[in-house]
Amino acid sequence: MSANTSNSPRQLDAVIVGAGFAGLYMLQKLRSEGLNARVLEAGEGVGGTWYWNRYPGARCDIPSFQYSYQFDEKLEQEWEWKERYAPQPEILEYANHIVDRFNLAPHIQLKTKVAEAVFSEEENRWSITTTGGERFRAAYCVMATGCLSAANDPEFPGKDSFAGETYHTGRWPHEGVDFSGKRVGIIGTGSSAIQSIPHIAEQAEHLYVFQRTPNYSVPARNESLDKDFIADIKSRYPEYRAFTRDQLIAWDVEMNEKTAAELTPAELRTECERRWELGGLYFYGTFADMLLDQDSNDVVAEFVREKIREKIDDPVVADALTPTSVFGCKRVCADTGYFETFNRSNVSLIDIKDSPIDEILPNGLRVGEASYEFDALIYATGFDAMTGALDRIDIRGKKGLSLKEKWLAGPRTYLGLATANFPNLFIVSGPGSPSVLTNMITSIEQHVEFISDCIGYMKAKNLSRIEASLDAEDDWVDHVNEVAGSSLLLGCNSWYLGANVPGKPRVFMPYLGFPPYVEKCESVAAEGYSGFQLS
Ligand code: FAD
Ligand code: NAP
Repeated sequence: MSANTSNSPRQLDAVIVGAGFAGLYMLQKLRSEGLNARVLEAGEGVGGTWYWNRYPGARCDIPSFQYSYQFDEKLEQEWEWKERYAPQPEILEYANHIVDRFNLAPHIQLKTKVAEAVFSEEENRWSITTTGGERFRAAYCVMATGCLSAANDPEFPGKDSFAGETYHTGRWPHEGVDFSGKRVGIIGTGSSAIQSIPHIAEQAEHLYVFQRTPNYSVPARNESLDKDFIADIKSRYPEYRAFTRDQLIAWDVEMNEKTAAELTPAELRTECERRWELGGLYFYGTFADMLLDQDSNDVVAEFVREKIREKIDDPVVADALTPTSVFGCKRVCADTGYFETFNRSNVSLIDIKDSPIDEILPNGLRVGEASYEFDALIYATGFDAMTGALDRIDIRGKKGLSLKEKWLAGPRTYLGLATANFPNLFIVSGPGSPSVLTNMITSIEQHVEFISDCIGYMKAKNLSRIEASLDAEDDWVDHVNEVAGSSLLLGCNSWYLGANVPGKPRVFMPYLGFPPYVEKCESVAAEGYSGFQLS
């Protein structure tokens, strides 16, 4: 995993930015096709999300036997997931296993942050420069920089004055943190906070939770995986995976084929209770129209609200923790003992919905007239999702056009894979693709295979430039918006809409519907990459 120490740029067929699940598979795929490809990764290790997010309680919320690669049958058979929802260390171990198994390490350069990527129209090549000044030239540049990798660091007045320890869940210290005997403040109540709060509360002397918006969370019901269950899945993995790829969100949520209107009140209740017992994100499958029809959604939302209220002793705290929005218009969370944590005497909920944080103080923070004192402050404030990691690189296409400027009013892509005026640049899980609305590893594999097939096609036809056409891009953006508009997903201030980052344009970024998306990509490829200009 060594760096290039000479002054001349290293010549490559493809530079891949990022060593998460997207970058690792892209590397494996392009190298297996005979390309000289290299991964540049800012972190000191591979795994992306699972390298950075080491906060206590971090684990996946899609069952591990689904949240894993399916491109290699032997890998699928040999890897043993131990828990229904694998914890972060196990997923990280899996990422490292991929590197070893496919001998990827020599082609991955760690501690290498890409600062700039510039397209040369004369040469049809990308020039990539790192923050350390190292340079690379490549025919193709693949951004595998992640949808949830650029931390959101809100600019509170006085932020730098805090004298205690400060953490962000997405940049958690590798050696772990011991909060024993400490007063701790945590800002945010999204998935990362919901997973970590029960653990931190067990250690801390006192935990202050600053909540702007309550979230729907359902018990994860994590458990050790039964050997017979796994043997059964493994005996029919290809067929099972094919079934999951046919699902709206690319994983088996046991989707109910009936709409809420087709069921009697007693049947609605039974189905909600069944989902509650199944746990976690299986709630996405409660009714076929749950994300499309307000009445259907209300049934689920009210059921989960009722369950939340039952868990909390203090009715005022219960009210504050009970969400009112559309169920699922923000990513639903899966927890283990989250709401029960607020019954502890060493945990205080501070509702900052109507009175936001005014300033960070050297020893705590102030909300209106009230000050809260603590020794450590945790930002569980999420990510500048989908566009943040790309915006943080100076990416320049034809005529020096900057991607950040092109996307000032919101990201514009063709299929979330490419963007007009940026030839030979591919994005894995870009805005406009199903990505964060799916089992992401399945989406990543589909993108990687599309990109590698496309590069193979270019090679076979002796072509050197591919670029999304503006018309195809405009049509695709309209379609993404139209699909989102026909759902209930626009109904709250979610990070899907960029609403968590001040000043970010309010645009629904992911595409809802994995199967129609795959069908579209397949027809684009079959038509010789329609919507792209090739030369
Ligand atoms: P990432 O894993 O984010 O990797 C991107 C890599 O690019 C990072 O290592 C980053 O350091 C690197 N990078 C970025 N910019 C640069 C640069 N300029 N130079 C060099 N390197 C750069 N999805 C699910 O489907 N199911 C789950 O259960 C689930 N749980 C999640 C839990 C957490 C805590 C988070 C934050 C996300 C979760 N996700 C989940 C989404 C998760 O991000 C994806 O599933 C998947 O891991 C993304 O892989 P990736 O390779 O696309 O991106
Ligand atoms: P998040 O869902 O965006 O939550 C961030 C929290 O910080 C929200 O409660 C937000 O409030 C709050 N916040 C942000 N800025 C704030 C400000 N200026 N003042 C006060 N509060 C502020 O981020 P996340 O929890 O890191 O999760 C992001 C995504 O990663 C998830 O949705 C999920 O896709 C993935 N993830 C998955 C898991 C898992 O279970 N496998 C775990 C963690 C993360 P508002 O809601 O009001 O904006």
